[in-house]
Amino acid sequence: SIVVTGATGPLGRQIISSLLERGVPANQIVAVGRDVGRLASLAELGLVTQRADYDDPGSLQAAFAGAEKLMFVSGSEVGNRVVQHGNVVTAAREAGVGLVVYTSIAKADTSTLALAAEHKATEQLIRDSGLPYVFLRNSWYLENYTGQLATYREHGVAGAAGDGRVSAATRADYAAAAAAVLTAPDQAGSVYELGGAPFSMAELAAEVSRQTGAPVSYLDLPVDKYTELLVAAGLPEGYAAMLADADRGIAQGELEVGDDLARLLGRTPTTLAEAIRAAL
Ligand code: NDP
Repeated sequence: SIVVTGATGPLGRQIISSLLERGVPANQIVAVGRDVGRLASLAELGLVTQRADYDDPGSLQAAFAGAEKLMFVSGSEVGNRVVQHGNVVTAAREAGVGLVVYTSIAKADTSTLALAAEHKATEQLIRDSGLPYVFLRNSWYLENYTGQLATYREHGVAGAAGDGRVSAATRADYAAAAAAVLTAPDQAGSVYELGGAPFSMAELAAEVSRQTGAPVSYLDLPVDKYTELLVAAGLPEGYAAMLADADRGIAQGELEVGDDLARLLGRTPTTLAEAIRAAL
């Protein structure tokens, strides 16, 4: 069976959809999450469901028993993830999983993004475990941008990314790539740097302008000023600082990657222009 963690989140759900599209039988997919209520809707699709929490090693061991492959979707509790992910890796080793496929971050080994530290540590835990692994080093989600179109139209695009370009891709494309890896032979040891065609924040603003007819421009700010703007817009301080730090990384090209995603998909990933059109 293929065990998918984070199955209650949008990426995990889309990975499961992509596995089903590829013909993996529903009863061979084990959907793992900590929220029983949301697991119930996955069980209705014919999937096996297992409740497990990254903070509860025993629950992970039970969920992974008998798994051939583990699709390990990284957790969302920034700051707690090294311990949590360590629990996942230990349980996977005890279950003798044949392949661990982990959703990491672009250039995890060299990235200076604050967010990258936990991914880098997790990759090391996986390597140290001796388990066969694949790292899917995902860049940003296009949805991080297309979810803000209303704000862009009203206030323009603001950021601290300078002229840097970001290889954002849709969750659906990252999920399709994950399913391709999970169903392909001989993947152990592969490290993929995944993302779509790169664009700058000025190009993002220009594309929103073009498609909406509204004049939208890009305001580039120093990292601290952008953090302040996000806090003023209502974001919690830590989250605002994390987003601004990511923009600092984008300015340095840390979320710009090559064409591994296109090669795994066998097609061009959904572009910024297409994603904006779909969101409007
Ligand atoms: P979500 O935050 O929506 O999903 C995270 C998933 O992990 C959820 O299913 C969540 O469960 C589960 N999870 C979190 N903590 C635990 C825990 N302690 N025990 C068990 N399960 C847990 O993110 P997405 O689906 O959108 O993305 C998947 C991952 O990608 C994120 O977790 C994050 O690591 C990363 N990410 C990447 C971004 C990018 O731009 N590339 C942007 C945002 C996140 P529950 O539903 O119960 O919360």
